[in-house]
Amino acid sequence: MADTEQIPESIAELVPNFTILTLPMVTRFRGITEREIMLFEGPDGWAEFSPFTEYDAAESSRWLRAALEFAGLLPGTAEAGPSAVGQLADTAGRSGAAAVRSVAVNATLPACATSEVESILARYGPVGTVKAKVAEHGIDSLPADVERLREFRRLFPSTTLRLDANAGYSLPEALRACAELAELDLQYFEQPVAAVEDMARLREQLDGLPVVLAADESIRKAEDPLRVAELGAAEVVIVKVQPLGGIAAARSIIEACGLPAVVSSALESSVGLAAGAQLAATLPRTPVSRELLGEHPACGLGTGRLFAEDVVSADLSVRPVNGQIPVTRIVPDPQRLERLAVDQGRFDWWSMRLQECWSVLRPSLLSSRS
Ligand SMILES: [Mg+2]
Repeated sequence: MADTEQIPESIAELVPNFTILTLPMVTRFRGITEREIMLFEGPDGWAEFSPFTEYDAAESSRWLRAALEFAGLLPGTAEAGPSAVGQLADTAGRSGAAAVRSVAVNATLPACATSEVESILARYGPVGTVKAKVAEHGIDSLPADVERLREFRRLFPSTTLRLDANAGYSLPEALRACAELAELDLQYFEQPVAAVEDMARLREQLDGLPVVLAADESIRKAEDPLRVAELGAAEVVIVKVQPLGGIAAARSIIEACGLPAVVSSALESSVGLAAGAQLAATLPRTPVSRELLGEHPACGLGTGRLFAEDVVSADLSVRPVNGQIPVTRIVPDPQRLERLAVDQGRFDWWSMRLQECWSVLRPSLLSSRS
């Protein structure tokens, strides 16, 4: 088959049918109360393409690559074909282990009143790992963060605790926060500062403080995700399937970084979360990752509960039950697709966006073949 046939100019030849949905969220998150997503089906099953609406075509084209790969529609590359499930079985087979059917997820503790810690975490049922958001208002939040997390430790002395500052501190502020929060027995501290260079400086200046740094935004938003490893900016990397361009791309980045990885979501429906679960179930386990993250590291894929609606009923969804999500493929419920469908204006906007992203992605697929 000629290249131009296999990698057509019009995405409509690869993806003739798709559906666009609005998923209402339980509460405002990341400044939004509903999430628009595209779903389509390929030979390997259903896939989700859901870059946030403000993302440009260049950034969003990586998300499209991920969706095409998960659907089995990525043309002209080594990843094409019935990939995901095959790789899962293959990985399990090679290691001699049974295929992983579920993965652990963390609960999330938002910035809340100290008196709410117990009731918020009670909703999750038994979980082994909690990720607490800190630095909502930068360093000004530190006294309240410390108080809230001391209460957490009083209630849950043996639960694994991670922190995420979403780059909310300057370098000196981050040092102060690490010094105060280190007593809480942290598994890791995600992205205290924004710049990858500052992450590296912070790590140097921690000077024996027992705080492991994890890079999230430094991997996902960076031009060069490998700089984290080159600069020694973190000991753990947070990886997300769609922003990194798919399961295969995420695996290559993890391998090239040589650092333990934790898979997290990009605020997806169960269809998108299923891709994350597949990656999480097949992450390489090394002595370093066991030492830093334990035997069954929780992933950040429990975000299904942030949505008031999903594309399947709760019992078929990738929602956490007792701190675990299933590793499975999701077939959306047609009635839900109909009920949650966007209006014609939004459908047209996404149709154009799909083609724009394809026009950015296509040349790289053509050049990777030649
Ligand atoms: Mg994060």
